[in-house]
Amino acid sequence: MSRYEAVIGLEVHAQLKTRSKLFCACSTGFGEAPNTNTCPVCAGMPGALPVVNKRAVEFGVKLAQALDCRVKDNSVFARKNYFYPDLPKGYQISQYEHPLAEEGRLEVPVNGDNQEVRIIRIHMEDDAGKSIHGAENTSYVDLNRTGVPLLEIVSGPDIYSPDQAVAYLKALRNILIYLDICQGSMQEGNFRCDANVSVRPRGRPEYGTRTEVKNMNSFRFVHKALSYEIDRQIDLLEDGEEVVQETLLFDEASGETRSMRGKEEAHDYRYFPDPDLVPLTIPERERQKWARELPELPLSRWRRFIRDYALSEELADTLTGDRSLADYFERAAACFDEPRTVANWMTSEMLRELNERDISAAQSPFAPEQLAELLGLVRQEKISTKIAKQIFPEVFAHGLDPESFVQEKGYVQITDESRLEEVVREVLAENPDEVASYKQGKKKLMSFFMGQVMKKTKGQANPKLVDQLLRSGLEG
Ligand SMILES: [Zn+2]
Repeated sequence: MSRYEAVIGLEVHAQLKTRSKLFCACSTGFGEAPNTNTCPVCAGMPGALPVVNKRAVEFGVKLAQALDCRVKDNSVFARKNYFYPDLPKGYQISQYEHPLAEEGRLEVPVNGDNQEVRIIRIHMEDDAGKSIHGAENTSYVDLNRTGVPLLEIVSGPDIYSPDQAVAYLKALRNILIYLDICQGSMQEGNFRCDANVSVRPRGRPEYGTRTEVKNMNSFRFVHKALSYEIDRQIDLLEDGEEVVQETLLFDEASGETRSMRGKEEAHDYRYFPDPDLVPLTIPERERQKWARELPELPLSRWRRFIRDYALSEELADTLTGDRSLADYFERAAACFDEPRTVANWMTSEMLRELNERDISAAQSPFAPEQLAELLGLVRQEKISTKIAKQIFPEVFAHGLDPESFVQEKGYVQITDESRLEEVVREVLAENPDEVASYKQGKKKLMSFFMGQVMKKTKGQANPKLVDQLLRSGLEG
């Protein structure tokens, strides 16, 4: 393996979160009855005229700006001709010679290092419909998705391992989500990826023959498919055979790639500029406005979290890896001045609750201010950390005010010394054998006595105070 180097380039199709389609006013709504979101334009009726969706252009330009691309003065929509039953126009409207933007870059964090991957181009295109294959050799076509806006983002051949490929995809997806322009779900197909893969003997400047791998609908499958394909190509070269240029489908069940079509069957799409659409020109004023609207991007937020909140790289990773989690954290940290405590709680207790419900932090029933309040109760020693963790699922689920909850339920920590003294006396009296062993030097029994006191007080005794009282009871 180490004698060879893999070279990977990725093509991502990101479905934009616009309300209407790229060239008509039909809804992009998902999961509606088949063929209800259609009109003469997206159904490909002769004479229907497309009109570009301005919001989709805005989203495309914003992504281009976030990836340091050069937005072209003029980009041109072209017809990409091919026949497919779910493509009623007989061509897809895409951009070919003159894409929306070119020559950008994305910094990808890999094992604590940032590696730059070039972005070759970003172009806009419309999606095809969907064929549904039913029983008895019947097929149906649903055109609801036809004409939904996509951005295709093409990376340079700057990725050298499956790990880096996944890191690149995660970083890109995160930017799309930060910009709020794509839902970024591979499972639902609104963030899709194809990979060009080749291998070459390490140190050789020329690229090997590449294959294109399709149909990878999770990060795990991307990793699996690329690992499989790299090994397959290395085996061929080792055996003195040649890699054949072809398109491969990843088969999730077998974990293998298999041939879909060879080079000789490769499409000739006969691109030409769409005569119904004028070249796309984006006025300087709009570009500047959109640039001002860009949010802080994940990498700079990650750096700021480490610098300003003194978080570990790992905590900053988890928080900034999800925009809504990072937003939640900043609101909570504004109310509670121990950011690391907030971050630790969020990445353990809170993330567990969010994951169980499969919701984002933005949908959390428990507000950031409430989390700050709960942590405040622990700091003021009104409740122990143990109690805080114990009550968290309940206050979280119902968005309860932590302070009134612990008052009502009687969870407030017992700091009354005479009451605790009584409990300690009881515990020592009930366990004479353990007391004797302790006095003979088995100091580890301290945690046993602590446990007994906590049991009798339902975990509400102030541990520091109990510790003091136990020591004086046992050693005095
Ligand atoms: Zn339509």
